[in-house]
Amino acid sequence: HRSAFEEVRFVGSSGAGKVPLGLKRKGLRIVVTGGAGFVGSHLVDRLMARGDNVIVVDNFFTGRKENVAHHFGKPNFELIRHDVVEPLLLEVDQIYHLACPASPVHYKFNPVKTIISFSFLTNVVGTLNMLGLAKRVGARFLLTSTSEVYGDPLQHPQAETYWGNVNPIGVRSCYDEGKRTAETLTMDYHRGAKVEVRIARIFNTYGPRMCIDDGRVVSNFVAQVEGLMRLMDGEHVGPFNLGNPGEFTMLELAKVVQETIDPNARIEFKDNTPDDPHKRKPDITKAKDLLNWEPTVPLRKGLPLMVNDFRKRIFGDHIATTT
Ligand code: NAD
Ligand code: UDP
Repeated sequence: HRSAFEEVRFVGSSGAGKVPLGLKRKGLRIVVTGGAGFVGSHLVDRLMARGDNVIVVDNFFTGRKENVAHHFGKPNFELIRHDVVEPLLLEVDQIYHLACPASPVHYKFNPVKTIISFSFLTNVVGTLNMLGLAKRVGARFLLTSTSEVYGDPLQHPQAETYWGNVNPIGVRSCYDEGKRTAETLTMDYHRGAKVEVRIARIFNTYGPRMCIDDGRVVSNFVAQVEGLMRLMDGEHVGPFNLGNPGEFTMLELAKVVQETIDPNARIEFKDNTPDDPHKRKPDITKAKDLLNWEPTVPLRKGLPLMVNDFRKRIFGDHIATTT
């Protein structure tokens, strides 16, 4: 296991923390599973910009090659089509494990044998494989878990100490329970095999490159990948809530969307989907205190960025720039 830091010049007499002054970071070898997806591809952009060697592992189940196409041909970028349910042999320093079919739309409309069992397998067997990889090569492993582990919460706002209120037999339980199991495995490998692990519980995130039919409510702009990197490179295992504590009702949100897209758009009221949590709000005290992270993009600023991206993808560039 190679060191992440290379001494280039000594400028200080003493170093605070683990990285002494005067040590410059060398490019790390980082694998991002699910790196062709929405959150993953933004994370890849940040890691590439930092000068790391990035390997994206994705089976393109919900992700798209186009999300990372701008890195093709760069010497520090590699894309591997691979299903994490199958074992994988690589030599890396860090593993960001994001692979998971996440959008609820897929859960509602796909038959058991495809998405449901597949998502559970990805979360359980896929996570086990990536933990096995981390153990073998001594890499640090970060799991992107979800606010769904809190289920329909009885505690509000939700702190990381809350164990959740998940329906084990609901239509989306395979996702919630799959992620809960992934968290369990992560902590088991940490305790039992001394793997360095990090757990982020991401709250609903929106932004450019999101699946157009994602189906989740928008609350947290994708700029929060910064939080994932701080967590990975910091000293704390977690879990950490990464989300926006700004609270609004669905009607308030619909009105902001209306203002952003078209003031004449009609708001329709429909029945809620089964098992949808009634309200949720992250307590992000822990992320603020220990990662020095908090969301910076308010809905009114973030939403137009996503809308513009959607317009481009639906109508093409010329329309998007004229609207
Ligand atoms: P996404 O669907 O855009 O990305 C997931 C990626 O994983 C896709 O590129 C998909 O092709 C890939 N993938 C799925 N199964 C795979 C497998 N078996 N092997 C290899 N690749 C596989 O979803 P996202 O919104 O970017 O979510 C990324 C991660 O963040 C997920 O783990 C998700 O659970 C978590 N998360 C996201 C949100 C959110 O609001 N976006 C909220 C909470 C948690
Ligand atoms: N694994 C992997 N890549 C590796 C090392 C392990 O995909 O580089 C997989 C391995 O196939 C196994 C899982 O990770 O299914 C757990 O591995 P571990 O060594 O922890 O368990 P064991 O193989 O001893 O049961």
